[in-house]
Amino acid sequence: MKTRTILLSRKDVDRFLSKIEVDSKTGCHNFVGGVDLLGYGRLRLNQSTYLVTRIAWVITNGSIPEGLLVLHKCDNPSCVNTDHLYLGTQQDNMRDKVLRGRNPRAKLTESQVLDILDLYYVQELSARAIARKYNIVYGNIRYIVRGKYWKHVFEKFMEEVIWQEER
Ligand SMILES: [Zn+2]
Repeated sequence: MKTRTILLSRKDVDRFLSKIEVDSKTGCHNFVGGVDLLGYGRLRLNQSTYLVTRIAWVITNGSIPEGLLVLHKCDNPSCVNTDHLYLGTQQDNMRDKVLRGRNPRAKLTESQVLDILDLYYVQELSARAIARKYNIVYGNIRYIVRGKYWKHVFEKFMEEVIWQEER
């Protein structure tokens, strides 16, 4: 099987380890460096930016079989404790997110997304108020109203709004 590795110098490893805080209650090793928009830690090494879970896996296990993702057993995106991680496919990833309610697409129906867009653009409710109403994290509402999540629904909604305004 083909594998992927990340070339790490001693300095890289030290830099990575210096950004970890151990939570003694959960056993999670929380990465406290930079995170991306979805809350996943990323670290820049040798001109590339890597997900910190992949770096942790490579430090412990040497490499990652090609095509596999490093996923969380604990529901904590910032955790890099390899005891809390496992290798899986994109399908496993989606299934886990649905099970844990972390996939914003899985939680909502198309009509709810249309309702969110209507609340935001027509009724001018704030993204925070909508997040509270739907019990969804604020960041996900921001993604929806910018058309990053549910793009096809967003485009459909925008077409209808423009059409209504032209009448
Ligand atoms: Zn953990």
